[in-house]
Amino acid sequence: VCDLEPGAIVSDACASYNTLEQLNDAIHPYLHSITQNTDFFSHYRLSLYSKKCPFWSDENGMCGNVACAVNTLENEEDIPLVWRAKELGRLEGPTATHPGKTQQQENRQRPLQGKLGAGVDESCVVEYDDECDDRDYCVPEDQSATAKGDYVSLVENPERFTGYSGVGAQQVWESIYRENCFSKPPKDVQSSAQSPFGGASPFGGFGNEQQLVAANQLRNIMKEQGIQQNVKSAIAGGNAPERLDPVEFDDTCIEKRVFYRVVSGMHASISTHLCYDYLNQTTGEWNPNLACYEERLHKFPDRISNLYFNYALMLRAVGKIKQHVKDYSFCSEDPVQDTRTKNSVLRLASALPDGPEVFDESVMFRDPDAIALKEDFRNRFRNVSRIMDCVGCDKCRLWGKLQTNGYGTALKVLFEFDESDSSKDPPLRRTELVALINTLHRLSHSLSAIKEFRQMIEKRDNIP
Ligand code: FAD
Repeated sequence: VCDLEPGAIVSDACASYNTLEQLNDAIHPYLHSITQNTDFFSHYRLSLYSKKCPFWSDENGMCGNVACAVNTLENEEDIPLVWRAKELGRLEGPTATHPGKTQQQENRQRPLQGKLGAGVDESCVVEYDDECDDRDYCVPEDQSATAKGDYVSLVENPERFTGYSGVGAQQVWESIYRENCFSKPPKDVQSSAQSPFGGASPFGGFGNEQQLVAANQLRNIMKEQGIQQNVKSAIAGGNAPERLDPVEFDDTCIEKRVFYRVVSGMHASISTHLCYDYLNQTTGEWNPNLACYEERLHKFPDRISNLYFNYALMLRAVGKIKQHVKDYSFCSEDPVQDTRTKNSVLRLASALPDGPEVFDESVMFRDPDAIALKEDFRNRFRNVSRIMDCVGCDKCRLWGKLQTNGYGTALKVLFEFDESDSSKDPPLRRTELVALINTLHRLSHSLSAIKEFRQMIEKRDNIP
C-alpha cells in the first residue's frame, strides 16, 4: 500500500517518498537542535522594513493582524555576540569597512596574510552581505555598506498561521509563478527525457508525467485567478514573458520545470506550516488544522511531490558543502558556545547523504544554450527574491525572504560550486549559510508534519 497515494503522479513514488522520509527521520533531530539551540543558526539579519515593493504599491496588501508582526532585536545587548556587527568587524578596526571584491578575492587566496592575522578565519572578520556576486541567485539583503539590517530571533518569531490572505497574498504568488514563464521558446525539448532524479535516484522516472501535472497546475492557477496583465508589465527589468502559454509549458525543458517545482514546493511548504501551526480563532489555541491540509495539499499530490523535490534538492546542496560547513568558524568569543555550535554542525554533516544520491544537478544546464538559460534562470530567481519585498505581512516576509535566500543559496551551491576544486567557488555569506540550514529545517519540518497529517487521515478514515 502506498502511504501517500500519489500514484496519479509518479508510479514509483512510494519508494522515493519512503527513502526521503527515512532520511528525514535521521536528520530532523539534528536540524531541530542546530536551528533552535545555537545562537548562530537561530538568528538572522535581513532588511525587513527598509525596502519598498519595487513592482506595485503594496499599501492595500498590508496585514494588520498581530500574528503578522515580528519582534526585531533593537538593542545591541539583545543581539547574540556571534551576530553583533561590532564583533564581526573587530579585527578590521572599530568600524568594519567592506573590503570590496578585489580584496575579498585576495583574502580568499591568502587567508592567513594581511590584516586578518595568522589563523583568523575570514568568517569572523568581514561581512559580505552588501556585495553582489554575479553568481548569486538572490539580491543581497543589505545594499549599502552602512545598512546593518534588522536582527531577528527565528525561534521567537516562528513561521505559522498569520491570517495574511486576500488580494495582496494572491498577487504575490501570482507574480512569483509568472517568473516561471521564460521568454525564450523551449529549444531543448529533447532534454526533458532526462531528469535530475533519473537513473538510480529515488525520484526515478519523473519526466513527462511531471510536465503534464505542472501544466495542469498552471492551467488551474490561470482558471482560478485569471492572468493579470498589469502584474506582468509591472515586473522590472523588462524581461517579463511575452505570453503565458500552458501548452508551451507542456513541452518545456528540465531547467524550467525545476524552477516551477522549486517555487511550488516552497509554496507547499509554507502552506504546510500554516496548516500545522494554525490558530483556532474560537478557542485561541494553536493546533494542526486537518481541513486546511486537505484543502491546500492533500487534494494536490503534485504540490506534495514538489515539496519532496525541494527537500531532495536542499539535501544535495547542504551535502555538497559538508566540508565547508565542518570547517566553518563560529566566532562568538565564547569557546563553549562555539564548540557546541560546531558539534551540532558536525552531527548534522555526518548524517547527510554523500554525493548526488538524492538529486543529480549535473544533468541540468548541459545543452549548447545552457549559459544563456542559466543566466535567465538566475535572473528569474533574483526577481522572486525581489518580489518578497511585496509581501504585506512582516512575519510572512521574514520567512519568505529567508526561504528564498535558502533556495537561492542552494541553487548557487548546486550550479556554481565545484566539489573537486573549491578555489573558484563564490563566497558563502553567513546569512546564506543560516538561510540554507533553516530552509532545510523548514522542509524537514514539513515532511514530518505531512506524515502526521496522513496518520490523522488514516485514523479518521479507519485505514489500516
Ligand atoms: P494561496 O496559498 O494564496 O495560493 C494561491 C493560488 O496558488 C491557489 O489558489 C492555487 O491555485 C495556487 N497554489 C497554491 N499552492 C500551490 C502550490 N504549492 N503549487 C502551485 N500552485 C499553488 N500565511 C500564513 O498564515 N503564514 C505565513 O507564514 C505565510 N507566509 C507567506 C509567505 C509568502 C511569500 C506569501 C506570498 C504568502 C504567505 N502567507 C502566509 C499567505 C498564504 O501563503 C496564502 O496566500 C493565504 O493563506 C491564502 O491562501 P489561499 O487558499 O488563498 O491560496
